[in-house]
Parts: sequence; C-alpha cells; structure tokens
Amino acid sequence: MNSETLFAKAEKVIPGGVNSPVRAFGSVGGNPIYVEKGEGAYLFDADGNKYLDFCSSWGPLILGHANPAVLDAAKSTMDNGLTFGACNSKEVEMAELLCEVIPSMEMVRMVNSGTEATMSALRLARGYTGRQKVLKFDGCYHGHADYLLVASGSGLLTGGISTSAGVSAEAASDVIVLPYNDIEAVKEVFAAKGNEIAAVIVEPIAGNMGLVEPAEGFLETLREESTKAGSVLILDEVITGFRMGATSFGTIAGIDADLTCLGKIVGGGMPLAAFGGKKEIMQNLAPLGSVYQAGTLSGNPVALAAGLATVKTLIETNPYAAMQAKATKIAEAVNSLNLPIICAQKGGMFTIFFTNSKELPKKLDDVKKCDTEKFAKYHRMMLEKGFYLSPSQFELGFTSAVQTDEEIDSFIEALKEVLPQL
Ligand code: PLP
Repeated sequence: MNSETLFAKAEKVIPGGVNSPVRAFGSVGGNPIYVEKGEGAYLFDADGNKYLDFCSSWGPLILGHANPAVLDAAKSTMDNGLTFGACNSKEVEMAELLCEVIPSMEMVRMVNSGTEATMSALRLARGYTGRQKVLKFDGCYHGHADYLLVASGSGLLTGGISTSAGVSAEAASDVIVLPYNDIEAVKEVFAAKGNEIAAVIVEPIAGNMGLVEPAEGFLETLREESTKAGSVLILDEVITGFRMGATSFGTIAGIDADLTCLGKIVGGGMPLAAFGGKKEIMQNLAPLGSVYQAGTLSGNPVALAAGLATVKTLIETNPYAAMQAKATKIAEAVNSLNLPIICAQKGGMFTIFFTNSKELPKKLDDVKKCDTEKFAKYHRMMLEKGFYLSPSQFELGFTSAVQTDEEIDSFIEALKEVLPQL
C-alpha cells in the first residue's frame, strides 16, 4: 500500500490520520509520507523513495536510524522479556550515569515521554514550594499537559490564555507567560509576584519556534531571580539534553538547574524520558515524600538498553564537533545566498527562517513574521529532491553523527538550487 492509500485509510480511524498533529503536514500541504524503514542517515517510504533525513524523529536519532549498537542492546535485552513492572539493573545504571554527567542532577526518575517529565517536574516544584504559579515563555513547548498549553495573556502580570480547547481557565490562570529573552520582564514579574512562583520552566535553547538562542544574561537572570524568590528553576532539555555535548546544555552553559527534564536522545528512539535534580527537591517524590508520580512502564528495560547504548556511544565517540561543523556549513551556505532568508544554527541544530529580517529571531513575535507559505513550498521541493525536513517553519533541523560530508554537500547543493526559486 502506498502513502496516499495508507493516509486515506488512517483518516477514517485516527483523528486527522495521525497520532501526533504536526505529522499531518498541515502547515506544508500535501499528504504525509509513510515510512517503512530507516537506515543510517536515510528514511525509506512506502512509495519506494529514499530521503536524507534532517528531522531525526524530532531529535532522538542523533546516531542515525537503526544504529547497530543501539539495536543490539535493545534486542538482547528484549530476549529476557519486555517489561517486569519491578526493579531492574538498567534503571540504576542510567540514573548513576545521568547523575555523573549532569552535576546538578543528584537524583533522577525515569518516565516515558517528555510531557510526563515536564508535567511531573512542575507538580514536584509545586509540592516542594507549596506555591501555584508557573512562569513560562512564549514559543517554548513543554509537552501537552494542561497548564503548559498556555500563551501570553494581555498584560505581563496576568495569567496566560489556554491555546487548546479543554484546558480550564483556572489551569491557564496559574501560568504567567513572558516573551523569550525578555530579561526586564522577568525581573518585573519576580519583583511583583516572586513569592507566588513555584517554578520557572524554560527551553535553554528554544527549539519549538524554530531555533532561538538565549540572549546573553537571560538564563543567568532566571537562575538569579528564582534563587532569590525560592522558586524552582526547571530547564526543559528534552531537545537540548545530550544534543550539544554528552551532558545537559545547563551544564555546558554553567546554569545550575534545580530540575532538568530529558527526553528524545536519552531514550535512543524508545519511549524514555527523565527528570531529575537537587536531592532536596527530588526526595519529595513518593514513596519518600508526598508528591505522587508513577508509571506502569517507567524504567522499562528495553527502552533503557537503547538509551544507555546511545548515551554511552555519545560519551565514547564525542561526535559533537563534527555535527556542529555540518550544521555550520549549512547555515553559512544559506546565509551567503543573500536572500530574504536567515539560517539560525547552534551545535548540530539549525532553522532556515523565511523572513526579511537581517537579524536572527529573539522571541516568538519575530518568528511569527516568517513567510510560512514560502516554507511550505521549500518543504515540498526539498521532499521531491529526496530531503526529509520537519514539516513546519517552527521546528529544527538536526545534523547527526552518521551524515557524511558528501551528503551534507548534496543538501547544500539542493538548497542553493531551491531557495532562490521561492
Ligand atoms: N519539551 C520539549 C522542549 C519538547 O520539544 C517536547 C517535544 O517535542 C516535549 C517537551 C514533549 O516531549 P514528548 O513529545 O516526548 O511528550
């Protein structure tokens, strides 16, 4: 069955035909492709096409598709059973490893998705502080828990507005939403409401409005203000964890997070995520403390085997400089074209913004000025040429450890041909 037939069937029995909305290609038009297999740097679809992949399953596949070390680890673990609902040694190994490479993490708990990690970290912060309010930033995505699907309200100090039906106004009103990188607004909010703020949650490099780097002093201000107010600083590193180095970005940037959320890479392509941090906070979780958090499949041995193989390979092979060089080459090539386009890049991540601005976006309002129709056309043309990119302007491209220089050059050649035509 080809992709078109599969999607037509899927639409009848799965809302929108997809199990996660952006996969529907809504913002780029056309139908999604159905993937039959992944191998190294490539995806293969049900229509016989092969694509050089820059979506990387939205981040986890830093070592490429079907990496042999990761698959072997998962397969050999699987031979002993898929789940036990009881303790297993891999949980201990992973927890020790994470606490070793991320010094701010003294204790850690495994969960199954990034959403679970952020939602549990926030509940823990509220339980620990006895406060309700949460400060987040416009354009940052932290998963789909009710109080995280919130955008800015009308004034800086008012509660946010839900961005999804089904989220109660009450849940949204406990969330204060500020523009990313607005240091003055952060100080203002802490001066007015610091003693009500349980937690600040932030993507330390924003990836869910396209790539937006933290301004100088932004993360440091969050650390200072939350320390003064007794609020919990949560770095959501579901994307950035193990992306910029074999540790958290907080560790690299010298930001001592109270809690760090991990996902994607830490599971090596399996449903595994984690949240952890200061012992003083983490020991408030059940069964030690009164904040409840649990999971039938949490600490699943097969997921942990894949995650451990991935993290250990990253530590051993240190592919970060090479991944950065590949992304830098892409960004420099795009930016040298002198078109109404600007490419942001950090480490092995990049976003091509279709905008007239000569400056990189600093916040959601800047990103919103992008020409999404142009992006859609670009996406379609690149797909036809055999390059698979995340199907939205507001996402990241990832280089991986397995793409060769020739493959990166072929991508750049295609960009040079396509971008001037838009
Ligand atoms: N936090 C960030 C920064 C993310 O990018 C995502 C997902 O893309 C999440 C949390 C939610 O993770 P998941 O999709 O595994 O629930």
